Amino acid sequence: MPAITHHIPEPMMAAYAAGTLPHAFSLVVATQVSMSAEARATLQAHEAVGGIVLEDTSSVAVSDTMKSNLLSMLDDPMPEEPVYASSGVYPAPVMEALKGREPRWKTLGMGVKQDILAEDEFGSVRLLYIPPEQAVPDHGHNGLELTLVLQGSFSDETGRFGAGDVEVADETLEHTPIAGAGEPCICLAATDARLKFNAFMPRLLQPLFRI
Ligand code: ZN
Repeated sequence: MPAITHHIPEPMMAAYAAGTLPHAFSLVVATQVSMSAEARATLQAHEAVGGIVLEDTSSVAVSDTMKSNLLSMLDDPMPEEPVYASSGVYPAPVMEALKGREPRWKTLGMGVKQDILAEDEFGSVRLLYIPPEQAVPDHGHNGLELTLVLQGSFSDETGRFGAGDVEVADETLEHTPIAGAGEPCICLAATDARLKFNAFMPRLLQPLFRI
């Protein structure tokens, strides 16, 4: 995999490490972390900072008995959540969100397909499949949009994004992403607000596609 050039912004990584990032964005961060050693290192740095803060506030004397009790508790089998391995272009966090199944693609037109993985009041996260050289309709954003490339690439007004790259779009960006030539572009995209489509047709179809 070529070097990742577009990373998760630091404040977002800090929020993820602190556990305060909404689910939709967390899934994108977890997925990029699973794809990039550099992202993993950044996360570990933030977790270390969080750990130091925690140690400072809880630096009361801990007896050896208490310590060994705590350690033996950590060894106890916890109620296990199902764990899925990565499969094909889908890293483990995405497989977790898919619960081990294949994506259930629903067509959005022009060969573009989606599978909504999760949706709550804070946002939604979906897989997007864009055929080679196909454009996504020109749109703006009412909030944040994170798009992580899993396979292929796309380009827009701001640059080119390959596998492992994440684009962060906000209210200030209006763009027309176009998939690169070659493989279809498969992305993991999270938003915390509806997109703003400029053309009438996408706007009309928007409620139907929950995009
Ligand atoms: Zn966008």
